Amino acid sequence: MKTKERQYMDFSLTEDQLDFKKAAIEFAGRELNIGAKQREKNREFNQAGWEKCAEFGIHGLLVPQKYGGLEMDILTCIAAMQGLGYGCCDGGLLFSLNSHIWTCEMPILKFGTDEQKGKYLPGLANGTIKGGHAMTEPDFGSDAFGIKCKAVKNGNTYILNGTKTFITNAPLADILLVFAVTDATKKFAGLSVFLVEKTFPGFSVGKCEELMGLKTCPLGEVILQDCEVPEENRLGGEGAGAAIFNSEMEYERSCLFATHLGAMEKILEECIDYAKVREQFGKPIGSNQSISHKIADMKMRVELSRLILYKAAWMKSQGKRAPIDSAIAKLYISESYVQNCLDAIQIHGGYGYSTELDFERHLRDSVAGKIYSGTSEIQKNIIAQFLGLL
Ligand SMILES: Cc1cc2nc3c(=O)[nH]c(=O)nc-3n(C[C@H](O)[C@H](O)[C@H](O)COP(=O)(O)OP(=O)(O)OC[C@H]3O[C@@H](n4cnc5c(N)ncnc54)[C@H](O)[C@@H]3O)c2cc1C
Repeated sequence: MKTKERQYMDFSLTEDQLDFKKAAIEFAGRELNIGAKQREKNREFNQAGWEKCAEFGIHGLLVPQKYGGLEMDILTCIAAMQGLGYGCCDGGLLFSLNSHIWTCEMPILKFGTDEQKGKYLPGLANGTIKGGHAMTEPDFGSDAFGIKCKAVKNGNTYILNGTKTFITNAPLADILLVFAVTDATKKFAGLSVFLVEKTFPGFSVGKCEELMGLKTCPLGEVILQDCEVPEENRLGGEGAGAAIFNSEMEYERSCLFATHLGAMEKILEECIDYAKVREQFGKPIGSNQSISHKIADMKMRVELSRLILYKAAWMKSQGKRAPIDSAIAKLYISESYVQNCLDAIQIHGGYGYSTELDFERHLRDSVAGKIYSGTSEIQKNIIAQFLGLL
């Protein structure tokens, strides 16, 4: 009988990737954490940390060497970001970096013209310019393709009008990918993307949001009022916006969550250590099944998060589409991070609930992961759609 040919995938990190992850952990512990609690209280962005990350190479991990980057493959980038997630306790800085890399650099890398790459990638890779993307509007969040921001062609410029909300990095960004409608008669094919610089006439930043977590990450409203964008700043063809958004989301919904996985690995280790040394009723709390099973569940979530993250990242590194896998990765890792934070607090009792330890900060940061890049409910809709159910 003819056996069916099967392909086995190897998701283990190489020695070099593991060394890079270790280097990122050490770098984060040494350079990014001092003063983090105070910055969290002050809702202050860590500009010095941003610059140190750029020197370390984080901003340019995926950027070709000719534009000043390290030109790493996606899995090596994931390993480094996992290391940062493990070693850095400034979740806002990590989120800001993630937004810069996955929602700005990556689409320019994939869809930019040589001129656009030459103009923007060197600054994005060395951290002297900050990026992000602006899709969400006050009346269109989950229904992203319903947006109303308009771009009307006028000679060799586009005139953009609209308001974007909840835009990560907006108060500091030098350049944002702005999604706008160029043809209202076509839904998906009527969207286009523009590289909008903060100096363009008609661009301004509105109110900044105060969030439950991610407090050191600047986030706010973007107002486009007759904003003039040169035609050469359109990313991709007219009408390519939905395709660019979908491509970007596949990276964002998988690779962005490497920092979450790193954080979960650290939290798990701390829980194991604590459960072994904290004694109540004359024995370690970890010897109670209710605690050891909680930790076993945490470990399971970490391992499964790692598998789905590496699988989705591997698919992207092979140039494959990964809409379901990235939706599953996003959904599973974000929900797991929240649950593992809750479990860590419970295992540490009163100390876990105290701001002395970092678990409550992790919890506040983790909840956002269930909302940005498409909510958990929307990820389930995507998975169900691909299964032919919706
Ligand atoms: C920290 C943070 C950072 C962000 N950064 C950015 C950014 O950089 N750029 C950007 O463009 N946007 C950004 N966003 C916005 C984010 O993408 C939206 O908040 C998200 O897509 C949800 O949209 P909404 O807030 O309008 O909620 P809504 O779409 O109004 O949803 C409200 C609730 O209804 C549910 N719901 C809606 N439709 C359905 C449906 N069809 N089926 C089932 N349930 C449904 C949702 O799941 C949710 O629970 C960010 C948000 C946060 C919190």
